[in-house]
Amino acid sequence: MKIIGVDAATWDVIKPHRDELPNFDRLMKECDYKTLTVDEKPKSAAVWTSIFTGKTQAEHGHQDFIVDDELQRRSDIDAEFVWEKLDDRIDVRVLQVPAVAPPLNWNTDYEPEGFGLSSDPEELEQDMNQLLEKSKQVLGDDPDLFAVVFMQLDRISHFYWGDDIVLEFYRKMDDALGELLEYYDFDSDEPLIVLSDHGFAEHGEGTSPNTTGRDTKGRNQGRPPRGCGSHGQQPRHRRVPRPRRRRQEDT
Ligand SMILES: [Zn+2]
Repeated sequence: MKIIGVDAATWDVIKPHRDELPNFDRLMKECDYKTLTVDEKPKSAAVWTSIFTGKTQAEHGHQDFIVDDELQRRSDIDAEFVWEKLDDRIDVRVLQVPAVAPPLNWNTDYEPEGFGLSSDPEELEQDMNQLLEKSKQVLGDDPDLFAVVFMQLDRISHFYWGDDIVLEFYRKMDDALGELLEYYDFDSDEPLIVLSDHGFAEHGEGTSPNTTGRDTKGRNQGRPPRGCGSHGQQPRHRRVPRPRRRRQEDT
């Protein structure tokens, strides 16, 4: 099973630019996709923790990277991540799940630029490239479960929403996605999930049920016969604003 996380990816950018994002486009054509709704605070650290523990924020109690001026650690999260529960005989490799900063790895190592919280485009691009190379190296070992999360769109959206560089980073992410998908056989039954923890909007990640900032890209569970399943339902959101500049808020 392969899981590729793209932090803060939103349909509001992907859908109107499908012709420039051929790999997102391919996934939308060949796989199921939909919008998931986040009912709780769309904070990266909390949502990724929910995704990979199966617990709500109330259950795992983890709110953010920093709480009361204290940088949170794995030991501050009162829940087990899925990779911690799986049998040792399953080859599980996890790269850069941003539940804490720096992000969590499992059975592999990677150190992000700027602690995973950089705001510098050059550093973010470098980080994306390095994480891609590391991912390919790990995928080359053909693990039973592979999970990686790319945080760079979240960072760039926070600092540059409204600038052309945001779409530029979506293109870079699309290229990276294309390279990762070379390790996935679309004719197989292997599950592939490409998802985000929340979307993005002018005011940030989006906290109310009506914002477009909570779009999440989902995949099927290896439904035969086409490997990645039949065509999906339409996403709920139609509004396609051009990203506009906004101030940095939190992560
Ligand atoms: Zn996020």
